[in-house]
Amino acid sequence: MYTKETRGLFAAEIENIKEKGLYKEKRFICSPQGAEIEVEYPEGAAHEKVLNFCANNYLGLSSHPDVVEAAHKGLDARGYGMSSVRFICGTQDIHRELQDKMSAFLGTEATLLFPSCMDANAGVFEAVLEADDVIIADRLIHASLVDGIRLCSANYDTFKHMNMKHLEKKLILHQDKRTRLIVTDGVFSMDGDLIQLDELCDLADKYDAMVLVDDSHASGFIGKTGRGTHEHFGVMDRIDLITTTFGKGLGGASGGCVSGHAELIELCRQKARPYLFSNSMAPSIVAGSIKVIELITASTERRDKLEWNTKYFREQITAAGLQVGGQDTPIVPVMLYNAKLANDMARDMYAEGIYVIGFFFPVVPAGAARIRVQLSAAHEKAHIDKAVAAFKKIGEKYGILGLDKKGIVEKYGL
Ligand SMILES: *Cc1c(COP(=O)(O)O)cnc(C)c1O
Repeated sequence: MYTKETRGLFAAEIENIKEKGLYKEKRFICSPQGAEIEVEYPEGAAHEKVLNFCANNYLGLSSHPDVVEAAHKGLDARGYGMSSVRFICGTQDIHRELQDKMSAFLGTEATLLFPSCMDANAGVFEAVLEADDVIIADRLIHASLVDGIRLCSANYDTFKHMNMKHLEKKLILHQDKRTRLIVTDGVFSMDGDLIQLDELCDLADKYDAMVLVDDSHASGFIGKTGRGTHEHFGVMDRIDLITTTFGKGLGGASGGCVSGHAELIELCRQKARPYLFSNSMAPSIVAGSIKVIELITASTERRDKLEWNTKYFREQITAAGLQVGGQDTPIVPVMLYNAKLANDMARDMYAEGIYVIGFFFPVVPAGAARIRVQLSAAHEKAHIDKAVAAFKKIGEKYGILGLDKKGIVEKYGL
């Protein structure tokens, strides 16, 4: 029974979160997703127009008219929902078409769609690996990979973040296993750094290991034609499994996939639990995603603009005297180290018309708080100039311009 005492128990936990300053406030978007959005914040306040600098809308396709139109057509032609998981009666011809288009785009043999990339990651390890295999993963892999790995029976080991020497040690240690699978993100979402996939593939060859890359923060825009991290490092034919999402650069609605060698994909189709037990991607979203792949295969214009925006923002924000992490990716962490400082500055940025969020423990390690800025091809130069000017103004207010880590930490503590 949900007694007064039970309620008190859970209410106390919520109070505890608030007291620690870790409470996530509600913000409501009252417009389509885009560079300019209308927001209700705090709850009940009048709608305000602000610039969005924290969406995964890398290619600006979330509300693109061609994608919206394709989704409408898909809705008319194939209905609203499948009322079925993939394997019973939830696979239409358009699901097959999107799978084939993804294989061509990523340069793989086969692809299997899932309701989300979280589900792809939840299914792939258990479907492919056995108890005498080992997974060796970067220590900062995405939470959904960690959860997927927990669901499988293979051995699990880790290597220090992007540390190839340490990975080599672990590969040597696990030569007795049936197979070795190296698992990593292509682009790490909190730091905006790219793992050195060329070196990683060399090690995989030397020590007979397979490679799985989650390219959710890369598909569509990293690499010369946007194929992903494997294109960027010239190893398109050396990755065994790619997982990625349609919920970020590739349209931003939902859905995910596993892509790679035919046998591995066939095993996922036979055994992956989200394929067997969770509903199919909706027809309208499949149709929209097909249009996305067509658009970005036909032209690199959007990823080129994103690249320009990224370079420009990184240059300008550094020149303004702020510390940023990562390299070459549209994820730009503005490092502030102190959690309260990150939270306060993000709130002040909102008052300047810039929607950004402070990230702190447990989303990033303690003492590594930041405001994570994400660029989009939907941003114009004037948007970026406004964001940089706001950072400069708010940075000055807090007296952190030109300070390095030591300086900021001396002033605000960790
Ligand atoms: C966002 C993300 C996911 C989850 O994708 P969904 O399709 O939203 O479930 C998985 N892996 C990584 C690396 C991500 O950044």
